[in-house]
Amino acid sequence: MEASLTARDRVGIQDFVLLDAYTSESAFLDNLRKRFHENLIYTYIGTLLVSMNPYKELEIYSKKQMDTYMGVNFFELPPHIYALADNVFRTMQSEFNNHFILISGESGAGKTEASKKILQFYAVSCPSTKLLNNVRDRLLLSNPVLEAFGNGKTLKNDNSSRFGKYMDIQFDHQVEKLPHLLSAGGGRRGRSAPLARPGEKLPALQILSGNCAKVSSINDKSDWKMLRKALSVIEFSESDIEHLFGIIASVLHLGNIKFGVDVRGYASLNNNNKEMHWVSKLLGIPMQVLQQGLTHRKIEAKADEVFTPFSEEHAIYARDALAKAIYGRTFNWLVNKINESLVNKDSSRKTVIGLLDIYGFEVFSVNSFEQFCINYCNEKLQQLFIELTLKSEQEEYEMEGIEWEPVPYFNNKIICDLVEEKHRGIISLLDEECLLPGEASDLTFLEKMEEKIGGHHHFVTHKLADQKTRKTLQRGDFRLLHYAGEVTYCVVGFLDKNNDLLYQNGKEVMRQSKNAIIQHCFPSTEPDSKKRPETVVTQFKTSLVGLAEILMSKQPWYVRCIKPNEAKQPGRFDDVLVRHQVKYLGLMEHLRVRRAGFAYRRKYEIFLQRYKPLCPDTWPNWKGTAAEGVQRLIKHLGYKPHEYKLGRTKIFIRHPRTLFATEEAFQV
Ligand code: ATP
Ligand code: MG
Repeated sequence: MEASLTARDRVGIQDFVLLDAYTSESAFLDNLRKRFHENLIYTYIGTLLVSMNPYKELEIYSKKQMDTYMGVNFFELPPHIYALADNVFRTMQSEFNNHFILISGESGAGKTEASKKILQFYAVSCPSTKLLNNVRDRLLLSNPVLEAFGNGKTLKNDNSSRFGKYMDIQFDHQVEKLPHLLSAGGGRRGRSAPLARPGEKLPALQILSGNCAKVSSINDKSDWKMLRKALSVIEFSESDIEHLFGIIASVLHLGNIKFGVDVRGYASLNNNNKEMHWVSKLLGIPMQVLQQGLTHRKIEAKADEVFTPFSEEHAIYARDALAKAIYGRTFNWLVNKINESLVNKDSSRKTVIGLLDIYGFEVFSVNSFEQFCINYCNEKLQQLFIELTLKSEQEEYEMEGIEWEPVPYFNNKIICDLVEEKHRGIISLLDEECLLPGEASDLTFLEKMEEKIGGHHHFVTHKLADQKTRKTLQRGDFRLLHYAGEVTYCVVGFLDKNNDLLYQNGKEVMRQSKNAIIQHCFPSTEPDSKKRPETVVTQFKTSLVGLAEILMSKQPWYVRCIKPNEAKQPGRFDDVLVRHQVKYLGLMEHLRVRRAGFAYRRKYEIFLQRYKPLCPDTWPNWKGTAAEGVQRLIKHLGYKPHEYKLGRTKIFIRHPRTLFATEEAFQV
């Protein structure tokens, strides 16, 4: 007894639901810390998996480990991401429905690593035929391809996901194999918005440029080889690959183009400009066309075409807009191409497990439009979590006629509304300002927010703040009280970034390209810019709403990732940092609901079917109703009244260990 107590003291408890002082944040933290120092990075809250980033390689992802977790009861072994993956898979098989695993956490917390582990588990654990093996390779290899083009180095993470990725893993029920379908969440512009972070090099730079920022944890040379191999396995032709790299190189050269200023003060480009020569050569666009397109704007006046020269500032803006458009559209093309190579054309019945790995909540010392989009996305996902888990949990108890104390939780709908409500939400106000010709500026946008939403409890600016808070804000700031905590955004650049206008003649220049991918990305039938394109933030919002709809129709599972320290170092557990994440990941609230409620529930029929051999009255055939059968069964098993409740259609079991004991009796 003593020995086991010591062990428990040392390694903590593997399911927070079983923690005695479950309401205390400190006890929660203690348990996490203890386990972290023992290299036990996974802990459950019921079926939710909390994962700490170890920042070092642990020997827990071998094939042997996978075999160990395959088909084993969830609570029999130490918590693991494989246990979760296996449990989702088996639930899907037995209930024949769709699922998704939402992996969240802040930047660098380990979301992408977690999603890779899940993919690898399915790729290895599902039996296969040769044909499917081929598909399986492609699925695994599509990850490095998307990463190479979609990720970038940030202060918080050397390999930060600059795009959201939603992937449906499709399971064929006849052969129980692993075909799949891949689709990227987020619209084209939505993805390119975070890509276009000021001062940050485009991800491709890491691959192509010799003098790029060095990242110690990324091995460019071997990644480069891997990328080429991956591209050919997912059936990219040599000419596709050549065109693709041509485009990336051209984007880099485009970004390096420096403008001169002519005697009239307009932007000029010398005929001998080396960078421009490269772009012209790589994309197959005549020099003159390119030169004209980069320094002039075409204005159509009646039947005439007039070219007006850009100022230097405008030329830089147009150049960057063009580079972003080329990069964004090519990335989109890449995703579609990968999808095509993965789509399973066989039409037998299938269910899916969706995997969502999305950029985490971000707070930098200066936060701009990009952080606003990312944090809004996380706010939406939290709302989805609340809708799906907390609310439906409480509703289920009510529906089943089970008595229980409702648990109070903070519903962040009020913040989502503040951002996205029609006509008076921040997004609407921003779009409105972007549509105003002439006088609109970042500051008028700020003033408009002050006027329209100034009284909102989750919004404050320098002007609106009380004296104490005012000291922490600049005139050009607005602060949002997110569910995760306060974030101060600097309004400078919001209008420009949201507009992200690609000048019409930029598109026309691209249409003259001989590069096949560019021809595909800039088709000549594209509607002209006379009709305003949707703003960046509106496209982002649309794609998020679309994603939420997809997810709402599936059964949710959660992995919550936590970053132990900002230094990316193993063995360091920063209390303040972890506490903050525990708070905004809603973990205490989740635990409270789990504890107040019942960890497990089963339909009477399913429960009886599984355990009826354990009781002579119910075995082999029970003649009465399933509910009566279950009552007889649990009486025989000696369940105590506080351990369970009987609802209208289901039995609810308070602790996993009760079910676990029953399972054990069953195994004997
Ligand atoms: P972002 O939101 O910026 O994309 P992320 O949550 O996806 O961040 P990852 O890229 O998954 O973060 O993880 C960051 C780094 O942490 C990894 O490159 C890896 O070095 C380390 N790491 C994460 N999880 C693990 C793990 N389970 N084992 C070992 N190292 C890990
Ligand atoms: Mg990531």
